[in-house]
Amino acid sequence: MKNLKKLELHVHLDGSIRPTTISELLNISLEKANKLAMVSQKTNSLKEYLDKFDIPLKIMQTKDNLTRVATELAEDLQKDNVIYAEIRFAPNKHLEQGLTLDEVIISILKGLRKVPIKTNLILCMMRGDSFAKNLDVIKYAKKYLGQGVVGIDLAGNEAAYPVNDYKDLFLLAKKEGIPFTIHAGEADGTLSIINAINLGAKRIGHGVRAIENKEASNLIKEKDITLEVCPKSNLDTNIYNKLEEHPIKKLFDDKIKVTINTDNRTVSNITLNETYKELKTTFNFTDEDLITMNKYAIECAFLSELEKQEVLDLLIK
Ligand SMILES: [Zn+2]
Repeated sequence: MKNLKKLELHVHLDGSIRPTTISELLNISLEKANKLAMVSQKTNSLKEYLDKFDIPLKIMQTKDNLTRVATELAEDLQKDNVIYAEIRFAPNKHLEQGLTLDEVIISILKGLRKVPIKTNLILCMMRGDSFAKNLDVIKYAKKYLGQGVVGIDLAGNEAAYPVNDYKDLFLLAKKEGIPFTIHAGEADGTLSIINAINLGAKRIGHGVRAIENKEASNLIKEKDITLEVCPKSNLDTNIYNKLEEHPIKKLFDDKIKVTINTDNRTVSNITLNETYKELKTTFNFTDEDLITMNKYAIECAFLSELEKQEVLDLLIK
């Protein structure tokens, strides 16, 4: 699995901070850092999983720390043989110690650029945040579009904040020509996926519960939507009890475009290599299947056609 070249389109910066970095910066033991940042056993809900972000966010409030965390994630992606990644984070969550949105974005880009792999950023709007705050995310995505930022997302507690509450914001993003993906069909059911697609999302974060509903899976095929599947994360938030129950293979066999991602490397205590290995063992995916999924990732990446061709050349070289 290590030799296979990969893309990763769904990975959160804050959820992927190295425990060793938490330990060092907060001056606590590694054991304690692990306990604070990782899910040790099954959580009861997405809400409980999301609480694991408190510690990383405490640290990621200065330019230096943001740069460091970004560099370290890019290095970790490199170890997984990732040839292109879209890394996401919610800019508004890093303003607690007076940083501006420009400083947050620039510090993270600076960190990523220290590592020679192709990466871009997706800025997350947050469920539960005010309209004004999420509007800022759109404004800054527009400002940095093509300069390290390639799109936006909607993240956070799906069960409590339905996707249609954010309709006006996505209409605006569409008008501004900003590509977007939406977390949907994770904690909430299939209606959430249908609504996200109808708002114009070309990619769905998770979306695995489309398997429960013909209307949703047909719409995904009809509109050529790609799912950013994060199997370990779905186990951690208790959507499925064990990997054997995960629908990724069924979705793939049903010709739905699935891609493989970690979501949160630290919170879920997983690498992309491990994810591939577990999927291969559990579902007997062939190397060819895995390459097909990476081709799906290239097709739906927020890149120009020329850049997609360059990544494809790298993938099959
Ligand atoms: Zn996610």
